Amino acid sequence: MHVALSMVATDMRIRKEIDERRAAPNLTDYERACETFSWEDARAELDGLPGGGGLNLAYEAVTRHVVNGHGEQTAIVWLGKRGERREISYAELDLLSNRFAKVLAGLGVQRGDRVYSLAGRIPELYVCALGALKHQAMFCPLFSAFGPEPIAERLNLGEAKVLFTTERLYHRRVAALRDRIPTLEHVVIVADPKRPKRPDATLDWAEAMAGASSEYDIADTDPETPSLLHFTSGTTGTPKGAYHVHEAVLTHHVTGKLALDLQPGDVYWCTADPGWVTGTSYGISAPLTNRVTMIVDEAEFDPKRWYEILEEERVQVWYTAPTAIRMLMKAGPELVRSKDLGALRFMGSVGEPLNPQAVLWAYEIFGKPFHDNWWQTETGGIMIANYASMDVKPGSMGRPMPGITAAILREGDDGRMHEVDDPDRDGELALRPDWPSLFRGYWNNEERYRACFRDGWYLSGDLARRDEEGYFWFVGRADDVIKSAGHLIGPFEVESVMMKHPAVAEAGVIGKPDPVAGTIIKAFVSLHAGQRWSEELQKELLGFGRKNLGTAAPREIDFTESLPKTRSGKIMRRLLKARELGLPEGDTSTLEGEEH
Ligand code: ATP
Ligand code: MG
Repeated sequence: MHVALSMVATDMRIRKEIDERRAAPNLTDYERACETFSWEDARAELDGLPGGGGLNLAYEAVTRHVVNGHGEQTAIVWLGKRGERREISYAELDLLSNRFAKVLAGLGVQRGDRVYSLAGRIPELYVCALGALKHQAMFCPLFSAFGPEPIAERLNLGEAKVLFTTERLYHRRVAALRDRIPTLEHVVIVADPKRPKRPDATLDWAEAMAGASSEYDIADTDPETPSLLHFTSGTTGTPKGAYHVHEAVLTHHVTGKLALDLQPGDVYWCTADPGWVTGTSYGISAPLTNRVTMIVDEAEFDPKRWYEILEEERVQVWYTAPTAIRMLMKAGPELVRSKDLGALRFMGSVGEPLNPQAVLWAYEIFGKPFHDNWWQTETGGIMIANYASMDVKPGSMGRPMPGITAAILREGDDGRMHEVDDPDRDGELALRPDWPSLFRGYWNNEERYRACFRDGWYLSGDLARRDEEGYFWFVGRADDVIKSAGHLIGPFEVESVMMKHPAVAEAGVIGKPDPVAGTIIKAFVSLHAGQRWSEELQKELLGFGRKNLGTAAPREIDFTESLPKTRSGKIMRRLLKARELGLPEGDTSTLEGEEH
């Protein structure tokens, strides 16, 4: 009896300790963390391959946890479209990805060969990614909703050798274009149980996996071995194929820990699809290296479903994007009122500027803010962030990660880029190119890659400001910024102000050529549930803009049911503009909701 009681007491003490430890974020003293940070120390947090065999992303993400005795922990909770729920442990994920690595070896896939995926968020996709990385093939994920043309273009651009897909997608998108992709040797498909006959010239996933051993020794991996090939979102033009190396896992791990506050055992949900870099860096790599249990939801965005997942799975860390947040705001507060979301500890956002209104809404609904962070496909990981332990300034992207040097640059009279010290002046956001997940090239486009580097900096193509306290504020993409009446205006600022009007759910802002003013500002707005567009509302919004924005106010405002967005959820202002001016639409392969 005594023993039992003292065991309960010990158990409670341990739990309390765990809770207390949890309450303290990984990063408590930002300044100190910046001063003391080194990539060597970060490297020491990972294990490396046994016997000094280098650094392999999949080993750090999965195998080492099994080696260290955590194989039983759930790595993935998979939620199927039709209500299925499957848990996959680290041990199981390790064996499955071993098998797939073995399959690739059997197919003659060599180090550096490109293995593509075209699939929804099914468990096999994650096995494929990790298996390819173990085998040191490059993994290149595509959005499953891409039509045949973008698929063919990307497969050819990266000279795909293997494609992993599903039978349904194969029939609908791939079969007809196969002879247009000369490098593609193997297509592995997850069968559709309703179709008994496998398509010609394909390999069946289940058969191939059953025939492969689950023993696989990862070969020594030079950290500079290429690992991931990602196509950018195509927000500003034709998507580029940026590639990364295995060493990128260091950035994934550290940023997952410091910027997203991932702690071993957390339940974590990154809502991004692996077709977008966020869905791999923070939907596969960072969560697994930090040994969390990650939620993978196969279904598409749905406010009711999302709130249910947050509640039922007791999600602690949630990483999503402004477009989803705005859609949740648009859906109204009723859906969330009855939910117990007490488990939520940290909420992050990325992909687009996060409107201050969205941060304030989050305080109201969740009692805590969204933490915005900034990065790009090219940077491979989070570069600037709002940290759990720091005050969030709504509308700001936060401060640079420890280990990252960020600056605002302008070209000087000497033709070189110089840092801007004035906190009120904007300029190009640039980074010192010295962190592990920096891309190593645009596939087959050396010239474009080289153009990103100048005077010792990596230039992001985004304009920003840095305030006195070192917080960065997004102004706009260099391509989207509007020059009107002698001022430079970032669409985001105008959009954020328009969203303060109670009727406005989303806004997209462009510069429109005008014979008198040169350029005027035009806004397209969508409305909250229950609001109706009318001439009166239009007038009211024009007045609201003038009152709050002065010279930066939209001179024209039109209603739109929804704004054109990329599949990763970014507003495509270039498309709003092309449509407004009747110009060619350019590359629309990443446009959401359309098949090309
Ligand atoms: P493309 O390069 O093909 O035009 P893209 O730049 O949208 O597409 P990504 O690499 O997915 O492709 O996106 C990176 C860009 O997204 C950044 O350069 C920036 O413009 C924007 N972005 C990401 N996070 C934020 C953020 N927190 N605040 C503001 N902008 C952001
Ligand atoms: Mg870009």
